[in-house]
Amino acid sequence: MKILVLNCGSSSVKYQLIDVDSKVALTKGSIERIGMADAVLTNQRSDGDEIKITGDILEHTTAIEYILAVLLSKNHGVIKDKNEIDAIGHRVVHGAERFTDSVLIEDDVLKGIRDSFDIAPLHNPHNLRGILACQVNLPNIPQVGVFDTAFHHNMPPRAYLYGIPYSLYTQYKIRRYGFHGTSHKFVSQRLAALQRKNIEDLKIITCHLGNGCSMAAVDKGVSVDTTMGFTPLEGLLMGTRSGDMDPSVILYISGKEELTYAEANTLLNKHSGLQGISGVSSDMREIEMEMKTGNKRARLAFDVFVYRIKKYIGAYTAAMGGLDAVVFTGGIGENSMEIRNAVCKDMEYFGIEIDDDRNTSKDKEKPIHKDSARTKVYVIPTNEELMIAIETEMVVRGKG
Ligand code: ADP
Repeated sequence: MKILVLNCGSSSVKYQLIDVDSKVALTKGSIERIGMADAVLTNQRSDGDEIKITGDILEHTTAIEYILAVLLSKNHGVIKDKNEIDAIGHRVVHGAERFTDSVLIEDDVLKGIRDSFDIAPLHNPHNLRGILACQVNLPNIPQVGVFDTAFHHNMPPRAYLYGIPYSLYTQYKIRRYGFHGTSHKFVSQRLAALQRKNIEDLKIITCHLGNGCSMAAVDKGVSVDTTMGFTPLEGLLMGTRSGDMDPSVILYISGKEELTYAEANTLLNKHSGLQGISGVSSDMREIEMEMKTGNKRARLAFDVFVYRIKKYIGAYTAAMGGLDAVVFTGGIGENSMEIRNAVCKDMEYFGIEIDDDRNTSKDKEKPIHKDSARTKVYVIPTNEELMIAIETEMVVRGKG
């Protein structure tokens, strides 16, 4: 089956056409700057062919038209007819409490996505726009919604409830939802496959460390806790997001600096995290480079980043009553041997001991634990697009 996987943001669309049987992306690309006259589409075919097109792409329907034109193009395309696309899988960020699994998109699903605009104003409206654009351009092709929150839907109430009046949960659905679910699911399943074990026999902590960062406690294949919460702001220190802190801090600063709601939001989401502490960059590569030149605030940002991950490894080991494996993924988790080394240092108590040669090897997917270590530690490149394609196929075939 060929599945078109789409991730639609406010001004961008990322896409891949994936052959699920071979698990290969036949072609992939993105459109950036949607809404502007000089929007740019870049496409890379699996054989290395690359093209870049600039155009007037003012909204998502036109963006999908451009993507289809490239997929069908004689010189740069990979299909001859639209109908070779068997289904479309959309990344939808927030499924709220309603979407606990991937679903075939029908009218009441559109309504459900719309109903959660309120709690996911930065993502769901654009995800929906992408779905509607496909309904216009590819009306006969089934579409499936794959939700970032769905993998976490089995968390027990003790993990998802906040300590605020219960009525705020019942009235406004304020609770932990968790995000990056597609990635946590993919890498935990991959870990089980690499270990040749049944996932139901494993207690895994997955660390998705990219610009956004989150961890999940995956017990018997089920996410039982995760660091992101009501929004993707909670938990680990991130590129520009604060992660955990005493909520009173924001009340205090808002009073002192007379911040509006929007300014407070920007402070916590865009000016905090690695960027906020270091004053240098939100990018881990630059933090590591600055640290090597003796920049103390870059070192502080690195240390806070690492410390929080270590704390959550402890917390999630307690939550699951044990630990079999830790997985690192995401741009930082996959590439930064320094971060992996620092997180795993002095963690023998948890059975974590890493092997320097393995940690520094060039392999992308690899075990990095010592053979003698009780807890296995792996680097596993995430592939959210492939996971979305697999889920989409299952739904379309009626196995979802
Ligand atoms: P996103 O969450 O936007 O998908 P990525 O998963 O690509 O982001 O992760 C981006 C992060 O990965 C950045 O902080 C970047 O610095 C970091 N990163 C990428 N390569 C390396 C590397 N070789 N060493 C350290 N950090 C890296």
